[in-house]
Amino acid sequence: MSLRDLPSVDKLLAQASDLIAEYGRPLTTEIFREKLDEARTDFRTQAATPSATDLLSQARARLASLTVFSLRPIINASGVILHTNLGRAPLSQAALTQMESVARGYSTLEYDLSKGERGSRAIHAESLLTRLTGAEAALVVNNNAAAVLLILSALAQRKGVLISRSQLVEIGGGFRIPDVMKQSGAKLVEVGTTNRTHLKDYKEAIDEKTALILRAHHSNFKIIGFATEPTLVELCALGLPVVDDLGSGALLDTATFGLGHEPMVQESLKAGAALVAFSGDKLLGGPQAGIIVGRAELIAKLKKHPLARAVRADKLCLAALSATLLHYLHDEATQEIPIWRMIALPLAEIEKRARAWAAQLGALGTAASVINGESTVGGGSLPGETLPTKLVALTVKSPNVFAAQLRAADPPIIARVLEDQVVLDPRTVLVEEESLLIAGVLKNLTRWKMTR
Ligand SMILES: *Cc1c(COP(=O)(O)O)cnc(C)c1O
Repeated sequence: MSLRDLPSVDKLLAQASDLIAEYGRPLTTEIFREKLDEARTDFRTQAATPSATDLLSQARARLASLTVFSLRPIINASGVILHTNLGRAPLSQAALTQMESVARGYSTLEYDLSKGERGSRAIHAESLLTRLTGAEAALVVNNNAAAVLLILSALAQRKGVLISRSQLVEIGGGFRIPDVMKQSGAKLVEVGTTNRTHLKDYKEAIDEKTALILRAHHSNFKIIGFATEPTLVELCALGLPVVDDLGSGALLDTATFGLGHEPMVQESLKAGAALVAFSGDKLLGGPQAGIIVGRAELIAKLKKHPLARAVRADKLCLAALSATLLHYLHDEATQEIPIWRMIALPLAEIEKRARAWAAQLGALGTAASVINGESTVGGGSLPGETLPTKLVALTVKSPNVFAAQLRAADPPIIARVLEDQVVLDPRTVLVEEESLLIAGVLKNLTRWKMTR
């Protein structure tokens, strides 16, 4: 055998009309070249060359893996409603429809139809936001981290920002309040202690260089025990503008669903916050966005700052956000917004679905039972709070391996391993995903039986 036995690129291309049709000639040619290079390198150690058939099938596999979407849908059976790693909030049908219609063609993104001239993208969600929250004005940016950065840059550059030491938080993904302040050029003035900060700590720290007071929601942790912070009303009474970074920022009261009370946007405004910042894809249940509501003269300053352009929201975001906000205005959030539907799902409904799943999944002889469990809200809100749920528990050998195989399914299924069982929580599985989930788990159970 010699290197001359290797087929030429042209010879491979002549046998690859199906690959060319699917992946295009340039990419197919490139992969053939790569495969042939590898074969030449391997020849030095193995003194053997692959056949044309081998090369074609290797190229097919590489082309397939190369062109698969790395960002793709999964089925979330983990019971974590707002999972940052899993893309946070699924969107409502209306949000999807609005996004598609705006994406498909041209739109009024920055066009005033009545005047026939340039308009402003800032208007699209603003009137909905002001009506829903009672704020004077609103601005939508790329995400809440950008919202906080913009606020501090525009209102506190080279000036002091007071923040309690209990609120110097890291949210996840490396978002640290002190780092954002440094980036904005604002001067961080820490007040109080980790567990206790009093109003007088703020009062004593105020000087002529102080621009504002920042309050950051603890979001993903809880301080319990000997701890205190002044209320927002008390902070606002100090006379400086108070910026409230709420993180999740709910428009509905989580307490009515058996959870703790997550701070609400309307409450912060009523308490006197000058600006309130929150995410579009946490408890609002919409697209990734950073939403700022509050005093008109401050929002106007933010809009004029150069960073506003760099962190502006795109048309898909504005379309989905407007449709999501309309659900609140129509008083249909708990029916139409997926994450609120999940939060509000009655236990009896979850149990019914769990029983139906268990019956189907137990058909192959695997022990599939319905057990009590807990779902969590996630998304940097309500730490330690859970919603009672019903889980489908599968008793399989090596549950971690089984769960890994479910992640490799198509579509991937994210399950949890709990006390040596693989558990599936119906709460976070959309009804239209159910048959895919059942088929995926059954397929794996069949394989499991054959290999053991
Ligand atoms: C989540 C969170 C952020 C960051 O919001 P993103 O929309 O993820 O950028 C900022 N502040 C707080 C308090 C948060 O909980």
